Amino acid sequence: MNKIEKWVRPNIRSLSPYSTARDEAQGSPDIFLDANESPYPGLGYNRYPDPRQKSLKARVSALKGLPVENIFLGNGSDEAIDLMFRIFCTPGKDNAVAIVPSYGMYTVAADINDVQVRGVPLGADFSLPTEALLEAADANTKLLFLCSPNNPSGNAFSREEILELVRRFQGIVVLDEAYADFSAKGSLRGEVLEYPNLVVLQTFSKAYGMAGLRLGMAFADAYVIDLMNRVKYPYNISQAAQKLVLKALDEPRDREIAEIVAQRERLTAQLPELPCVLKVWPSDANFLLVQVTDADALYAHLLQDGIIVRNRSRVTGCAGCLRFTVGTPEENDRLLQSLKRYE
Ligand code: PMP
Repeated sequence: MNKIEKWVRPNIRSLSPYSTARDEAQGSPDIFLDANESPYPGLGYNRYPDPRQKSLKARVSALKGLPVENIFLGNGSDEAIDLMFRIFCTPGKDNAVAIVPSYGMYTVAADINDVQVRGVPLGADFSLPTEALLEAADANTKLLFLCSPNNPSGNAFSREEILELVRRFQGIVVLDEAYADFSAKGSLRGEVLEYPNLVVLQTFSKAYGMAGLRLGMAFADAYVIDLMNRVKYPYNISQAAQKLVLKALDEPRDREIAEIVAQRERLTAQLPELPCVLKVWPSDANFLLVQVTDADALYAHLLQDGIIVRNRSRVTGCAGCLRFTVGTPEENDRLLQSLKRYE
């Protein structure tokens, strides 16, 4: 048994995955009467998409510098989050540990799967509580969720701190790097070749500007990726998404990312000058957590001006805070003007 297998749900270890007629067939047929599709092309999507996303995965492999065996593609990284629970946690029995505050879907996906989440508050200035995270785990803890840069605090943790947890935690560490493209600290995805219990999540929804297409990635040991491929829906990435993402990846995004980072720094410098702003946390992401004088009133004021932000004031550790996504320079101008008008 390999190191990971003991943490996999017994029913998943012995799962026979769905297999399509095209998986099973040899040769190169040119008449497809196997999948009950329509023979008429319509918009050009009458055939089921490639369940293994071969072309797109080859492109992602070149972009991310990892072999295809170490890459899973999902319907957003939310799919990969849900798969972690379905693969590793027996409902009603196993549990997961997660930092608090962090991305809300870890708890929602856990609740749906009837898995307990043990939330561990971040330390002062949202630092990583390494010992408390390890102490929160017991024999039934299968997953540890980290998010770096973290949503909603915006800070990235150091490489060494994260790897220390990967080495010491007896289970799977899921490191959500949805915002890593905005961070000078970079990504730890290359470490999945070294650590079989590390799963790194990334997405095309943020820096790559394709939230509407729904494409997320997981990078992990080939054994974990194989489990994910067996448990996922066979056709989880639509033909339209596969085609459009492939096309979009021909265009570099570096200029846009640099612009967003420059605007983030501009907002970080200018927001504290406003009377309604009490504190702006430094951010490695494309958003800022901002403590204001009256979060609910300011949220309503911005909405009146046609600007929707995220009210995080009821989230543990974020009292009085709004979260502002960094927009275009013009959008950020409007945000600053509206905040200036607030009495
Ligand atoms: N992880 C984090 C930390 C996020 O903030 C989000 C989206 N807000 C996601 C994952 C989900 O991204 P996707 O669109 O790839 O499902």
